[in-house]
Amino acid sequence: MQPASGGPSKARVYLSKRQGIQEVCDWFVALHSMPERLRPPPWANECFSEEELAGCETFLELLLKKLETVDLAEGYYSRAIARLPAELQEKLKLSDELVVGAERRGDINGTVCRVPQTDRAVAILIPMGTTALIERCCDLIAIHTGFDFSTITNSAFYSRVGVRESARRKLKRLWRTVIEKRRLKKKYPLHWVAFQLQTQLHRQATLGVVDVNDFTKEALPLPSVLSEARMCHPLEAGASMAEFACHFIMLHECAHILEHTFTSSDRTQHLHAREFEADAIALRLSVQSSRTAHERITSCLGAFVFLLINQWLYAATPESTHTHPSPAERINALMKVIANQVPLTHVERRLLHGLLSKLIVLFERLYQSSAILREGTNNTVHNVLTAHVMEGTPEKFLDTVSRWFLFGIPDKLCHALALTRVELEREVQSGTSRAAEKLEVLMKIYESASHSRASWLADELDAAYQAAKRNQANE
Ligand SMILES: [Zn+2]
Repeated sequence: MQPASGGPSKARVYLSKRQGIQEVCDWFVALHSMPERLRPPPWANECFSEEELAGCETFLELLLKKLETVDLAEGYYSRAIARLPAELQEKLKLSDELVVGAERRGDINGTVCRVPQTDRAVAILIPMGTTALIERCCDLIAIHTGFDFSTITNSAFYSRVGVRESARRKLKRLWRTVIEKRRLKKKYPLHWVAFQLQTQLHRQATLGVVDVNDFTKEALPLPSVLSEARMCHPLEAGASMAEFACHFIMLHECAHILEHTFTSSDRTQHLHAREFEADAIALRLSVQSSRTAHERITSCLGAFVFLLINQWLYAATPESTHTHPSPAERINALMKVIANQVPLTHVERRLLHGLLSKLIVLFERLYQSSAILREGTNNTVHNVLTAHVMEGTPEKFLDTVSRWFLFGIPDKLCHALALTRVELEREVQSGTSRAAEKLEVLMKIYESASHSRASWLADELDAAYQAAKRNQANE
């Protein structure tokens, strides 16, 4: 039962516990204990918009706001269900018994679980970085998609968000897209994009965090939907594609709500048959709630964009962490759904198949072009720490880790820190030069975690450290 009145519902409280935003802020205070660090540090200029920086008195205030806005899940969810038939919208409406939010987890797939100690309340939990990762990857991929792909996804996006484009505006968009595509492809060649994409996905796979890649950094900010300046902006096509990919993620979770039952242990939820079923329902819902041919086609493309990004990550993460069927199997299953169960006209289907084949080829080329970066082991935490200690700027390492912690300190990051600690302890024992210095810097994270109110952080860091030590002993 929910509280009678006032105060957040049990589901809301549960969600904020899974997010742990206040505790992350407490940890920041403990790590950056000097009072002046409560002013935004220099790196904040890269992570926060001018509006965000101007609106906050202290860094802590800014941080709290940022951690709340990193959670884009609710916005995507609301837009994804906005076009569904009224009776489905009623069932999927957010309430005290149905909540959606981002949680501290470094996976890419969402999950649905029963809120403990309630009869019916359900929470849809999307890993903190998922929507941001899809957005950043789509920014990069859209540089090399064809003219037809960008034109269709943009047209679908504006129709989905309810912006009517005049015939004149559409014509203007067409010729500007041709010019802009040519410029972007020349400035950011395929091998450069492949490098950025691999780095972006490697960070997510090993640390669970989503840095802003160099292309997005250069092109930000993307003007608002109603602004004239958004037309053919370097980030426009990627944002349109990401919108549909994220709708697919949200509708997949909706399908679980409509069709399946849950327990409060989310680890047992992902039975493969249910995942394939949820994918199929999500795709059908997305296509059925589309108003135009371009929307229907882009709904399908969005699902594949998500699964192709997922496939790249799947290969980079250990098997023990996989909760869903492999993305390759999910792609094959969705192909069959498109062939048999999705209401598309003959022309739409042919157009979709053409675009889909080109998309798959593009992903293959990007993957092959970045193969060299996947050779050997690559511990980002260790590399960044070494670089800063060698340069004599160890405080910058702590700043970098703080930036990563903006993603709510995912489990993967705790493991990467633990692995680095074990490696450095071994180096100290064998007398490797400057290893003790590096370990001392790293240990500040552990010490500040145990001094902050975020006891779960200290516990998680310690559990990850014990596991890394055991693994080392077994090697
Ligand atoms: Zn699922």
